[in-house]
Amino acid sequence: MIKLKRVVIAGTIRSDVGLPKGIELLLQGNKAIDAVEETIKIVEDNLDDWTVGTGGLANLLGEVELDASMMDGTTLKAGAVAGVRKHKNPISIARKVLELTPHVLLVGEFADLFADVIGFPQSELLTENAKAIYNDFLKKKKIETYPYDNEKTMKLKERYFKSFKKMVENNDLMSWYEKYAKEKHGTVNVIGRDIRGNICSGVSTSGLSFKFPGRAGDSPLIGAGNYADSRYGAATCVGVGEIAIRLSLARIAVYELSKGKSVEEAAICAIKMIKDLEPKAGTLSILVMDKEGNVASAANFRDYQFWIADSLDPIPRKKECIFVDLKEKEDIGVGYHR
Ligand code: ASP
Repeated sequence: MIKLKRVVIAGTIRSDVGLPKGIELLLQGNKAIDAVEETIKIVEDNLDDWTVGTGGLANLLGEVELDASMMDGTTLKAGAVAGVRKHKNPISIARKVLELTPHVLLVGEFADLFADVIGFPQSELLTENAKAIYNDFLKKKKIETYPYDNEKTMKLKERYFKSFKKMVENNDLMSWYEKYAKEKHGTVNVIGRDIRGNICSGVSTSGLSFKFPGRAGDSPLIGAGNYADSRYGAATCVGVGEIAIRLSLARIAVYELSKGKSVEEAAICAIKMIKDLEPKAGTLSILVMDKEGNVASAANFRDYQFWIADSLDPIPRKKECIFVDLKEKEDIGVGYHR
């Protein structure tokens, strides 16, 4: 007879709108993958959230591009999509990639095409609010202003090409981006553990606002922004995705769990690795769950929280992330190989 495990679901700060549904599904005995998908779908559909799904902020061309991934920690199967522009729930497309294809990652127009084939309806992702924020960005940030109009897309692309070509020629592109574009961003991370002890992790985002068109972050990259292995646990990231990609952070955290580290140690260890990058690499947080359903989160910035709900306390509770001060000289004892 299978011994039933404690069910747990944890998520990043704006996951609270979906977690009650997630914990309900787990308590009813549903699979972790169902609870994670349903929780994230609610967050993706929340129009007040400008970092995920409909309502997400646009790229430099004024188009919303969504990234998402799911990993099933028991089969080690993963599915992901990057640059989705026509479908509102990339997490569900990622799940279909996991379940129906031999692949892990589909990108751009072909990710949308796959969603069409599956039968997911198309929808507009750019809300009036996100459009207004984008237009404001254009006015303030030295790209010529123009009224947003789909029919003028070609014109917009020509302008984009012209402005950026000029910046490249003047060796200005990087500093322009640093100064004007790197503004708002965020992601939803959800990790669930079901009654059988299966762990599933899901991540969904509209990525960095005003990103270069075609830029994929860490969220759809297995090992970078998302990793799950039910034998040890799972980890997911929020923040400047390039950091998690360059350091393979989610995989590192799960590797630390496999060596017997606690969730706190694994999370701190992953964040400490950012020390190896240039000082202004950016901010990042990691959410870690171990195979028993213990959860911790760490970040290289202060005042960040996550949510957790479990069988004993199904009302989501907010918890503080551990702040890791990367300027601190003394070793706090859980460094990664150096
Ligand atoms: N990690 C996301 C990305 O880089 C953004 C974020 O979490 O803030 O696309």
